[in-house]
Amino acid sequence: MKQTVIIGGGVVGLFTAYFLRKEGIEVSIIDKSDMEQNCSTGNAGMITPSHIIPLAAPGMISKGISWMFSAKSPFYIHPRLDYQLLKWCLLFFKSTSETQVQRGIPLLNRITLLSKSLFVDLEKEHPDAPIFLSKKGLVMIYQTEAVEKEEKELAKLAREYGLEADILDTKEVQALEPNIEVKSRGGVYFPGDTHLDPKALYDFLKSHLKENGAKFFSNTQVLDFEKEHRKLRAVVTEQGKIEGDKFILAAGAWTSELGKKLGFTLPLMGGKGYSFVLPNQPQIQLPTILTERKVAVSPYQGQVRFGGTLEVAGTDQRVNMKRVEGIYESINQYYPEFKATFPKESEIWKGLRPCSPDGLPYIGHAPGYENVLVGSGHAMLGVTMGPATGKLLTALHQNQELDMEVEGFAVDRF
Ligand SMILES: Cc1cc2nc3c(=O)[nH]c(=O)nc-3n(C[C@H](O)[C@H](O)[C@H](O)COP(=O)(O)OP(=O)(O)OC[C@H]3O[C@@H](n4cnc5c(N)ncnc54)[C@H](O)[C@@H]3O)c2cc1C
Repeated sequence: MKQTVIIGGGVVGLFTAYFLRKEGIEVSIIDKSDMEQNCSTGNAGMITPSHIIPLAAPGMISKGISWMFSAKSPFYIHPRLDYQLLKWCLLFFKSTSETQVQRGIPLLNRITLLSKSLFVDLEKEHPDAPIFLSKKGLVMIYQTEAVEKEEKELAKLAREYGLEADILDTKEVQALEPNIEVKSRGGVYFPGDTHLDPKALYDFLKSHLKENGAKFFSNTQVLDFEKEHRKLRAVVTEQGKIEGDKFILAAGAWTSELGKKLGFTLPLMGGKGYSFVLPNQPQIQLPTILTERKVAVSPYQGQVRFGGTLEVAGTDQRVNMKRVEGIYESINQYYPEFKATFPKESEIWKGLRPCSPDGLPYIGHAPGYENVLVGSGHAMLGVTMGPATGKLLTALHQNQELDMEVEGFAVDRF
């Protein structure tokens, strides 16, 4: 029987399995972890078509340099002599040009809107799945004139792409949060964004796939591959060989390691971030970004998750408590009345965002292979773009018509 092997059971791998199963394809999902905690489980759960500017945007270099000197800043690159890192930084630098960014914006716009419509379908098809908690939109709040200017420009751009974006003053931001004082100069409200519990989504996808015949191999690390000319035949794991007809690499921040074993280069770095959950008191209502500090605030009724920092760290997963302090300190900077207690190290979730240098995902055929596809590099938008990525990879797998063009996401674009 024909079998597709998916390496990596994060949100991208699982959404790909979801759409392949819809086509009746037999799938095996292999993951080196126990599939309880990964980058897809403790993120902020925001579905944000509003985020149409790629990470590598003009201004990021100057901001990045100033942030490099603060242990608590939202963005940091571990300076070290590493060829992959140097190459990635160079490509990141090139991608901040106005032309590159203008090329990325319509692509992010299309893929995030496609995903949003697929989330709507998912909700209709599985009305009992405990996935969606809020459709309240999202507000980006700011305290400085400089960031206000940037966010207003972003709002203008978002409107040009047909997104709703309302510019709010201090009082209007406060009106959105009746229970707690908010310190802001104002904000931009995006009513079209939504917000979910990422672990609930992840657990739903796993159980739905299991019920629908997908095979899971957790605690199984892919170490190598068996190839024959331009085709992969099997993956070699600690537990033995797993054969397949087609293969999908969706191993998050580790996808470049697998690419290297297959003989192609995939510029990719892990962008480490942290989050922690606190009792929500006094209760914050709205999913919010504290823009100067780049901290995401995701309220879940009695609890609220605070997440942030992007530390370009390869695949190092150690927790840097100074960066967690940076997230923690931002809470009372914007919500002076919030009862915040500093989390213990054991309460901190960490995740490696798979970051491509230009902020666009890799979705397409692996160079040099007839039967290998790649889905990775989703950086800060893996949940947002997960469904669209799964649908597009399924269409490529089946040689079907695509919902959007994917040339801009080509795996060999660098
Ligand atoms: C603090 C924070 C907040 C975020 N907030 C949001 C948000 O609000 N909205 C949003 O859209 N995105 C958000 N993100 C980004 C999002 O979490 C990621 O983009 C997404 O989870 C990446 O999914 P993935 O499936 O590509 O990778 P992962 O979830 O990392 O999954 C990859 C899997 O591959 C497995 N694997 C790796 N190598 C091998 C191997 N050799 N053999 C077998 N298995 C292997 C790993 O064990 C892992 O389970 C956030 C991220 C962080 C860190």
